[in-house]
Amino acid sequence: MLSDDEIGRILVITAHPDDVDFGAAGTVATWTDSGLEVSYCIVTDGDAGGSDRSVSRPDMVVIRQAEQTAAAKQVGVHDLHFLGYPDGRVESSLALRRDLARVIRLLRPDRVLCQSPERNYQRMGISHPDHRAVGTAALDAVYPDSRNPFAFPELLSEEKLEPWTVREVWISGSPAPTHYVDVTDTFPRKIAALRAHQSQIGDTEALEERLRGMLTSTAERGGLPAGRMAEAFQVLQSG
Ligand SMILES: [Zn+2]
Repeated sequence: MLSDDEIGRILVITAHPDDVDFGAAGTVATWTDSGLEVSYCIVTDGDAGGSDRSVSRPDMVVIRQAEQTAAAKQVGVHDLHFLGYPDGRVESSLALRRDLARVIRLLRPDRVLCQSPERNYQRMGISHPDHRAVGTAALDAVYPDSRNPFAFPELLSEEKLEPWTVREVWISGSPAPTHYVDVTDTFPRKIAALRAHQSQIGDTEALEERLRGMLTSTAERGGLPAGRMAEAFQVLQSG
């Protein structure tokens, strides 16, 4: 595994506004605390989110973009890229692979954090079809699309985006995690980030308690000292 001082920039690729905050915001805060540059790429516009039918879907898009931007600020992230795919209908298409390869070549991250393309039978919500599709496309964009000059050659010939090799991938929501990050100290900022998603989360107190329990069990599974909280990832060497 790469140590943080071998890392310049980290790119987080998720399907929906709020995914990074549920799965990884505690970890993101530890990265920005150590001075690493973190960018977010959010594939969908989130227009199928929330349960308030009185909010028009175009309004929901604007709300969710603002919420994700505010949430990012809570954990020290200020560079966000919204791809605007329709929520709930993402496929791991060539178009999405090209769009993700473009962002990777533009930002040149050493580490990419993305969602799992695998279904997690223990936790249904983690395996939303958009999460799996974006996870697949993100891994395909890491290898081979962003590093191969002959993949989507227009990125190089027309947009002058040189190939880039991402060295490490962290998968969130994996059924087979290999690495546990202690997020006990950054948990309050993870909660602050989640509170920014007002259109999505009704009872934030209940959510905080639920997450405290889940992250405590995750830490136990990872062998961390009693009472700590952790987020878990499957880490792959990719270059
Ligand atoms: Zn999601």
